[in-house]
Amino acid sequence: MLLVKEAEAIIFDLVQPLDNQMDAEVVDLSSANGRILVGAVTSELDFPHWTNSAMDGYAVQFADVQAASAEQPAVLEIVEEIPAGYQPQRSLQTRQTARILTGAVMPEGADTVVMQEVTRREDKQVFILAAPAAPGAFVRHRASFYQAGTPLLPAGIRLNAPEIAILAAAQCTQLPVYRRPRVAILSTGDELVTPDRPLKPGQIVDSNQYALAALVAQTGAEPQMMGIVRDEPEALKKAIAQAVATADVVISSGGVSVGDYDYVDEILAQLGAEIHIRAVAVKPGKPLTVARFPNAQRPVLYFGLPGNPVSSLVSFWRFVQPAVRKLAGLADGWEPKFVQARSHHDLRSDGKRESYLWGKMNLVNGAYEFHLAGGSHSSGNLINLAQTNGLAVLPVGQTFIPVGEPVQVLPIG
Ligand code: AMP
Ligand code: MG
Repeated sequence: MLLVKEAEAIIFDLVQPLDNQMDAEVVDLSSANGRILVGAVTSELDFPHWTNSAMDGYAVQFADVQAASAEQPAVLEIVEEIPAGYQPQRSLQTRQTARILTGAVMPEGADTVVMQEVTRREDKQVFILAAPAAPGAFVRHRASFYQAGTPLLPAGIRLNAPEIAILAAAQCTQLPVYRRPRVAILSTGDELVTPDRPLKPGQIVDSNQYALAALVAQTGAEPQMMGIVRDEPEALKKAIAQAVATADVVISSGGVSVGDYDYVDEILAQLGAEIHIRAVAVKPGKPLTVARFPNAQRPVLYFGLPGNPVSSLVSFWRFVQPAVRKLAGLADGWEPKFVQARSHHDLRSDGKRESYLWGKMNLVNGAYEFHLAGGSHSSGNLINLAQTNGLAVLPVGQTFIPVGEPVQVLPIG
């Protein structure tokens, strides 16, 4: 059986990221949040757009004020008031100054700003009571933050609030982004019903479809809920073929263990898929099928997750989510990132498979503490997953992590 790291390497290798030509689209800035840039963005504007003042004060010529002190102030004539948003009309001559406010455009002839705290104004004159540190003090020069025509944001990054702010300021309102990956989700099992149906004895609600759709959307992809498929080879074959025809990634849950009604692997082979993984030494989530359909318009990745609700979610977090992030066009940062926490409980495993225990990470005095979820850690119990935000990992061979010791935790949600 494959180790988690081996399975991960195989999966990441199988992922073919979206194409920067064929899979590109243009979106308006107002709907760009969370999207991934397919090309670098360049602006026509310098930042700052013009040389401006960093302070409320007086625009001066440094030479006029370099010897100023409280005892011997420099006396300057105020020739103009420059509020923000105003175009200066005067060019400063020697011993002239302009009253200037933060962000306002520096007048011609001025090279320095004196902050108002070291001045005293008397009508049309201002007394400068201290020399500025250097020429250029409190002046923000045009293009000192960013030069027009150079790359502003690189390809392959996700647009979040800071990038949205930058793009708005740079007047870049039409953005080239990758289309969202399409992820088809289907559930297999004769016992499954939708949440709105009364349950007959032995029936189970198809919660995985909803959970996986929510996770896919959170990952920035587009979920396509394909519904419940009976444990009948023909029905399953048809449903999988249909999903493969429309999606970049297909996720099924159930039917991948070795039960009498578990047909998924057989059908995948019949439909021409290469099967790369059948099981992984992980708990929960041992039966995991990973396959690839090479002959579609673009290769389709198939994840057959176990049916148990917790197993299917853990498999998604550990293997599917990073793969979808990589496929979506993220240049980096798509790999799972573990954080170290101090365990607030004794953590146990049989040591045979890499074990994931769910719970809550809290920040205590600046360090993470991991609190194991109360109740059963059975893969069939999804109730105590509520409000968890991390999976603590016990590697193969490690049966015990005592309270107070460090543990690696995969943040989730
Ligand atoms: P399987 O992997 O098909 O053998 O299913 C394992 C267990 O998970 C069984 O108890 C199923 O009833 C349950 N299960 C399978 N699919 C789902 C689903 N979509 N939602 C909730 N539970 C499921
Ligand atoms: Mg089943």
